[in-house]
Amino acid sequence: MSLTNSPVPSASNEAARRFVYDFDHPHDAAPMSLKFLLGGKGANLAEMTSVLGLPVPPGFTISTTACRAYLRHGWPLSLGHEINQAVSRLESRMGRHFGDDSDPLLVSVRSGAQFSMPGMMDTVLNLGLNDASVEALVARSGDARFAYDSYARFIAMYGRIVLGIDHAHFNEHLRRAMADEGVATEGALSAEANLALAAQYRSVVQTHCGRAFPQDPRQQLHEAIEAIFTSWNGARAHAFRDREGIDHELGTAANVQAMVFGNRDETSGTGVAFTRNPSTGEALAFGDFMVNAQGEDVVAGTSITRPLVDLDDLFPIVAKELSDVFARLESHYRDMCDIEFTVEQNRLWMLQTRPGMRTGAAALRMAVDMVDDPAILLTRAEAVSRITGDHLDQVLHPTFDPSTEVEVVARGLAASPGAAVGRAYFDAPSAVAATQRGESIVLIRAETSPDDVAGMLVAEGVITARGGLVSHAAVVARGWGKPAVVGVSELVVDARSARLGDITITEGDWVSLDGSAGHVVLGRVELASSTAPAELEVILSWADEIRAGHLGVRANADTASDALAARQRGAEGIGLCRTEHMFLGPDRLPVVRAMILANTDEEYHDALARLLEVQRADFVAILEAMDALPVTVRLLDPPLHEFLPDLDALVVKEATLGLDDDETRLLAAARYWHEQNPMLGVRGVRLGVLKPGLYAMQVRALLEAAQLRLAAGGDPRVEIMIPLTISAPELALARSWVIEASEYVARHYPVPLHFSVGTMIETPRAALLAHQIAAHADFFSFGTNDLTQMTFGFSRDDVEGKLMAPYLEQGLLEHNPFDVLDAEGVGELVSLGVRRGRSTNPHLKIGICGEHGGDPTSIATLYRCGVDYVSCSPYRIPVARLAAAQAVLAGGRNAGPEDSSPSHQE
Ligand code: ADP
Ligand code: MG
Ligand code: MG
Repeated sequence: MSLTNSPVPSASNEAARRFVYDFDHPHDAAPMSLKFLLGGKGANLAEMTSVLGLPVPPGFTISTTACRAYLRHGWPLSLGHEINQAVSRLESRMGRHFGDDSDPLLVSVRSGAQFSMPGMMDTVLNLGLNDASVEALVARSGDARFAYDSYARFIAMYGRIVLGIDHAHFNEHLRRAMADEGVATEGALSAEANLALAAQYRSVVQTHCGRAFPQDPRQQLHEAIEAIFTSWNGARAHAFRDREGIDHELGTAANVQAMVFGNRDETSGTGVAFTRNPSTGEALAFGDFMVNAQGEDVVAGTSITRPLVDLDDLFPIVAKELSDVFARLESHYRDMCDIEFTVEQNRLWMLQTRPGMRTGAAALRMAVDMVDDPAILLTRAEAVSRITGDHLDQVLHPTFDPSTEVEVVARGLAASPGAAVGRAYFDAPSAVAATQRGESIVLIRAETSPDDVAGMLVAEGVITARGGLVSHAAVVARGWGKPAVVGVSELVVDARSARLGDITITEGDWVSLDGSAGHVVLGRVELASSTAPAELEVILSWADEIRAGHLGVRANADTASDALAARQRGAEGIGLCRTEHMFLGPDRLPVVRAMILANTDEEYHDALARLLEVQRADFVAILEAMDALPVTVRLLDPPLHEFLPDLDALVVKEATLGLDDDETRLLAAARYWHEQNPMLGVRGVRLGVLKPGLYAMQVRALLEAAQLRLAAGGDPRVEIMIPLTISAPELALARSWVIEASEYVARHYPVPLHFSVGTMIETPRAALLAHQIAAHADFFSFGTNDLTQMTFGFSRDDVEGKLMAPYLEQGLLEHNPFDVLDAEGVGELVSLGVRRGRSTNPHLKIGICGEHGGDPTSIATLYRCGVDYVSCSPYRIPVARLAAAQAVLAGGRNAGPEDSSPSHQE
């Protein structure tokens, strides 16, 4: 799914007029447009409140519409009034008032965009406290420690998040206070210490902002909302949206919610949970909580957390209630949810939910389990749709090579699976700079925050000293499929180094980590590919059911061992078997050169005959590996000079050491075959035209191999492919060579052999003249690499380095067209070629080969263009099978007159 293409619902009249919605406001919008209006967090709070009737502290959401209006034209006229009204409603609902000196209303202010987005403003808790209302909180709660703790936390949060003061300035005081009282946690500080801290924090604000900490709760609220809206355009948020392809115009919502207090006392706490295990997918709730703590203490990984199961003992009633909530959330969202909750004096409050991030292994297991789960009853199509290419990449992720001995120097939590190797860097900017120099890096941090995402993004893997399995580092790493080990407690991280006992890791040192085991190893460990979970095959078999008869998946394989590897991964044949490597082996190159240099017919045919022998043996092996499946063999494609020695080197040698006879002839040949633009030169079928007999020899080798397979009881399915065709007469000529060679072979074998002849469509002209060319072809295979190169006029080998980066940065291209098929231009040529080809040859079979065959986005485009199969490298086959099924499910195929696209809407 492309996020940029998400529907922007036309604003209803109400939405146009209105900026603020209470959580229990009745909505009739579809989930997607509700998220567009209220952001993900706001929409889910509204759903939990009104649809699911769960205990959610009351509040209201200021819509994304307000944010967009604010960012364009400044604070909207009616917004202040609407917020005041919403605050009044909240006050009367809670029976508490903002700034009240006997029973103050306190709120949290939380950002939340349509798509979950790090880099946005953090949440401010306890907003509404001031010097007067904190005294009221002391009196009401009878707990001065709790009240002053809340106030101190609020000033520090507000100062950091809304006023942009570095948190170190506050932490300095906090650390001193903790040292003075000799306590280990913030929650253990005395009332007096917290009161003193609050005063110190206020003077930090005064010093850094030149104005006093605002005492008016309405001003606090206004400033906080403005800070949320402004953070939408912050650099980190912007970079994240660029990477994820999220529209910069969407804006964020702001949620204002009555506070509940997990830091009230020992019967209170706060936690984060997943309804199933997000690492393994096991159907058991999973999470962390802390007693007598507030807000993000759990997520920040700054303090000691307890596993969710401990709730059973500590808060048995809440534990029971929570497990009911889990069941209801799962059956409502029909998915694993992650939640944030708080317990205030044994009462459960739900603060957030959303479908949770998961590892590839967990995604596979959950998708398969949920098909059989009576509360969810996922269809197979839905199960297949829930798996992404990234999930598969993860389960096919490397591990430490089992045959190498590794010495584990530290252990932490296995936060995100896979093994990684890189040089150690200890902050995001140095990590980014190192990768720009071409280094592979591992990011090592005490803990991570949204400030570190740029570094995590470029890292091979992440190691943190603190944090649990739901810490920021763990969640972000899993989402991106980056191996991570968190909570390596003996690790001490400094600015440019880290210590592990008496070992020091300095910036630039090699480190390895195994995120599946939680291991940290010094140096570079060899990596090996992993064994995938059993659910992978189930999902892929469902994917195969869905795409059967609609979109096939073949492999590009040139050798028997590649063919076997591809077949084992589910390839349904070979879409591209290149024959050039058969010419390049050390035993073959001299023969090829002999052919090129041949002076007489006899020499020439002698060389061809020797090439025939070796090729036949190669073909036998490949046909055997792909027995009973189609094998498309492309006749020789590269320019002849690729088989000759380097021209410049020969010239130099001639001038210095002199050349022997053979070398003199090679130099002449190299000069003769040298081209200014080899990619536009004597390649493909053009070679056949200039070197008659070459293709006939290849066809003979192939058909004789097929005959040998037949004789051995095999079932060879040969498809002969002519490369680089530009016209119908050219293909007709090439086809005549093939037929002639086949008739020659047929005379020597008793059993007739069926084979087909087709062509690659890789020049724009061939696509345009597809209706003429199709008259001589049984099949087409679009060579999208060359087609892209020639359609853009981009030399593939040259643009990647210099040109592509600035084009992508300046938005002149959305993707590198060699990675993601250009749907608008190249895709249009494919689509045209398909329709024109089928207009004269309705039975034309059409595939594509090239790098795009393994890219999910390109596969979707190609399916819509009407191709019958894609062909990709053997190791991309699983991803292609999945993506092909998802393309079929998405529909939208246009295959010309004989369109047989399915209507696969489940
Ligand atoms: P994020 O998007 O970073 O998760 P949230 O808005 O969910 O930020 O806030 C983070 C945490 O703050 C929540 O998990 C919860 O613990 C705490 N929190 C937010 N709102 C409230 C509230 N009204 N009462 C108590 N705690 C809250
Ligand atoms: Mg947060
Ligand atoms: Mg949250």
